[in-house]
Amino acid sequence: MTEAWGPDDDEPRPHIGPVKVRVPAKINLHLGVGPLRMDGYHELNTVYHAISLFDEITARHGDTLTLTMEGEGTGELLLDETNLIMRAARALAARARVPAYARLHLKKVIPLAGGLAGGSADAAATLIACDLLWGLGMSRDELAEVGAQLGSDVPFLLHGGTALGTGHGEAVSPILARPTIWHWVVAIADGGLSTPAVYRELDTLRAGSWPPPALENADSLMSALRQRNPEVLGAALGNDLQPAALSLRPQLADVLKAGTEAGAVTGLVSGSGPTCVFLAADAAHAHEVAEGLTAAGVCRTVVTARGPQPGARVI
Ligand code: ATP
Repeated sequence: MTEAWGPDDDEPRPHIGPVKVRVPAKINLHLGVGPLRMDGYHELNTVYHAISLFDEITARHGDTLTLTMEGEGTGELLLDETNLIMRAARALAARARVPAYARLHLKKVIPLAGGLAGGSADAAATLIACDLLWGLGMSRDELAEVGAQLGSDVPFLLHGGTALGTGHGEAVSPILARPTIWHWVVAIADGGLSTPAVYRELDTLRAGSWPPPALENADSLMSALRQRNPEVLGAALGNDLQPAALSLRPQLADVLKAGTEAGAVTGLVSGSGPTCVFLAADAAHAHEVAEGLTAAGVCRTVVTARGPQPGARVI
């Protein structure tokens, strides 16, 4: 006999914990930046691509909200209420009207202020982890709505894959049902670059240019993706923020040159930089390029990565 008032088996319930979530970094295969809008954002047309450089968030039940970390940026990244992980947990709790009680731990691999959206990735992972820990059962679209208020890249990092981003990057439409695996070499710099400072530099570089720069669409990049050929994709990659990142960090030109000399199909600055990414023909080629780039001694660390990857996922 079924209980008349028993719990519905389909109802989400709090997870006993711990909940572990893995989240990828993003690069932009195309980053078209339009003029500055009245609301302070730039209109973007971007193609996001999630790569295999992962942060991990573990969420456990607690009597209050706490955050600890290990790995990249430990001792440098503030773990207080300004951290995007704390802000994500608070925003989700407020939306669901539950107390924001959890012990959160971050295992960080994605470099700070690297143009790889590590902070937004951590926010996305926190939303997934706390949703499950607290038994909220929110849809990915609901979580993306909460996430968009925390950072433009958060909705993409919930989805992952390769996706078109419009608005200021927060409006995400997935592309490519049957994706090709692309091989990347990632050159991580010493020290970060502030994203707002890079946008300001772009505005300065563009000041007085007439006609004002048009917002370039992503059509040629999308058609290159469909051709599944690294040379074709390489020729279509582009980043409007690259001149601004190079202007603030001229040494990045040496990194781009070293990657090309090491045999990469092509290279570009990732988002607002200073990380540079290089496209390789296959996994073996990526390792060759990584070795050449490491030997050139122009950056802190070189790693290989593959994309696309799924977005924030429980592991
Ligand atoms: P984006 O390209 O999205 O602007 P980014 O990769 O250049 O990001 P992030 O590592 O995401 O840079 O961080 C930008 C800033 O956000 C950092 O300098 C840091 O002060 C702040 N921040 C807050 N929380 C986090 C977090 N969990 N991880 C990284 N940075 C964080």
